Amino acid sequence: MKCSLCPVSCGADRPEAVGFCGVSGVKIAKYYLHPFEEPPVSFKNGSGCIFFCGCSLRCVFCQNYELSRAERGRQFSVRELTDIFRELEDMGADNINLVNPTHYVQDIAEAMSIYRPKIPVVYNTHGYEKLSTLQLADSFVDIYLPDLKFMDNALSARYTCRPDYADYALPAIRFMAQKPLVFDGDGKMLSGCIVRHLILPLAVYDSINIVKFVASLPPTVYFSLMSQYTPFGDIAAFRELQRPVTLREYKKVLAAVEECGLTNVFLQDKSSSSQTFIPEWDY
Ligand code: SF4
Repeated sequence: MKCSLCPVSCGADRPEAVGFCGVSGVKIAKYYLHPFEEPPVSFKNGSGCIFFCGCSLRCVFCQNYELSRAERGRQFSVRELTDIFRELEDMGADNINLVNPTHYVQDIAEAMSIYRPKIPVVYNTHGYEKLSTLQLADSFVDIYLPDLKFMDNALSARYTCRPDYADYALPAIRFMAQKPLVFDGDGKMLSGCIVRHLILPLAVYDSINIVKFVASLPPTVYFSLMSQYTPFGDIAAFRELQRPVTLREYKKVLAAVEECGLTNVFLQDKSSSSQTFIPEWDY
């Protein structure tokens, strides 16, 4: 297949050849019940996360650095992927959480045609997506969990290997925002969209623009504001990234959330370190 799943459209002949995203066939570093997603996603038993390797965006501050650079992980067949779905269900997962799935959407769609989990399926993405790929994924996705990283393409050019993040992410998130919002009687999310945003040091202006963008989405969309940026990854050349976000920066973004009237909001404890949330990889 000449791959054009992500905005890079590099045309790699997968699964024989490795694409710009660093992978060919399905490569996974871990799957387990993850307790630290937003409350209606992790819910009671945990979210059945599957951590896919490779990435076509490759943020310098990536918290899953070894995964995004495809330095970890082992190959799984499509049939084995369906076994993972079943295993996570048997473990009691509240959903199947596909972490960083963009470059495997074709394989995941094939796996879903063999076995469709009986629990909700979460599409957990960096947001750098083509609409055509999302339309393919939409048939098996119940909950979108996109991370909206930047509105300003200057930040995208500085901190990722792609200079056009917002050109793709904004229409992609408008598409994801159409997912109907449904909870069960206990408060577990069955369908919907939660837009995440991690505040970066010295980029409060961009975070405020992101808050305004989220306020323009349907009111059914939830917003998850993350303030626990921790210096990590390949950031030696970026002085501004060598410190956490200050309380003053956090409060400015929080004030924008209030001014825009957002009420469906999750806030992450400012004192928590994001490194706490990085699991030990199995492969
Ligand atoms: S998903 Fe990977 S192989 Fe496919 S177009 Fe993007 S970078 Fe290339």
